[in-house]
Amino acid sequence: MTDKSKAKQYERIKLILSLSETALIIILLVYFIFSGLSIELKNRVLTITDSIYAGFFIYVAALAVVLTAISVIFSFISGYYFEHRYHLSNQSFWAWTWETFKGLVVGLVLSIPLLFLFFYFINRFPQTWWIWMGAAMFVFSVLLSRIAPQVIFPLFYKFEPVDNPEILERMQKLAKKGKFTLKGIFRFNMSKDTVKANAAFTGIGKSKRIILGDNLLNSFSADEIEAVFAHEVGHFVHLHILIRLFTGTFSSFLIFFLADFLYNIFDNSLGFNGITDMAGLPLLVVLMILAGFVITPFDNALSRHHERQADRYAVLNSSNPQAFITSMKKLSDINLADTKPNAVVEFLFHGHPAIDKRIRFANDIINESQK
Ligand SMILES: [Zn+2]
Repeated sequence: MTDKSKAKQYERIKLILSLSETALIIILLVYFIFSGLSIELKNRVLTITDSIYAGFFIYVAALAVVLTAISVIFSFISGYYFEHRYHLSNQSFWAWTWETFKGLVVGLVLSIPLLFLFFYFINRFPQTWWIWMGAAMFVFSVLLSRIAPQVIFPLFYKFEPVDNPEILERMQKLAKKGKFTLKGIFRFNMSKDTVKANAAFTGIGKSKRIILGDNLLNSFSADEIEAVFAHEVGHFVHLHILIRLFTGTFSSFLIFFLADFLYNIFDNSLGFNGITDMAGLPLLVVLMILAGFVITPFDNALSRHHERQADRYAVLNSSNPQAFITSMKKLSDINLADTKPNAVVEFLFHGHPAIDKRIRFANDIINESQK
């Protein structure tokens, strides 16, 4: 099989698995709603405790166990089995289990206060809970962006400042040009888990930093690393983290609003007694997932637009623009990316433009700037 068709097959499997997981969750929740199981679970929970808060947490915990089990199974198939089958993963089964366990604990710690707030808001403000919850999500996202690079990422990877003097000098020059305060450029040991390479601009305020995978630093030339770094500086110069924070908040408002609106249409006929009825929670979750489906393509379109802006910045500002193109080729080879995905799949699900398009776009900018 050629590398191209292998990449196509790999991406297709990944997409099918991810869509199957969501479909399975929706089917299960719908079954839970229509079979009367949800109301039965609520009644049982209310025999254990009189407190609505304790009752809500027991109900959610029971539901969460089932949903988490599904997500762990899919994560094993997609993130362990197929990653090994395509020779992309270095993880032993135990390493995978440990990383998954840590991920679950972090998810639990982060979601408990949000669930508590959610339940508080729907009880205190049954009409306008979605506004309060949207606002809470904004505060939560800001806090998370601020603390994640220093508190959460290190639970999974080891970060060290990049110390190669040649690379550093090039980065300092680019950072100065983009008025990016060069406090944090870190390498992280991505290679312990995967052969894939990646880089990202992350954090806000004092946690703002650029992180580069060790695979990338080891296998890319200085010119290529500079181009990748310039792309990340491009995200900074165009204020993408800030913009995403606001559009992300707008999306959560919209998702909560739409779910609330539709819930109020269906709840009585399904035997649920208003938004505060915990038995109606699976219905609300299904509606949120469906609303998310409507919003995701818009979100991805914005993300692809940002990627193009960052690409343009990289091509125009790195000392060897051709290195941007070779870095794209290397990245797609290492990460087994489909360079020419189906247009509909790209439109609906991809946050990055197809590699073929990025290379063509970069060539256009190089030709334009040489005129
Ligand atoms: Zn990017």
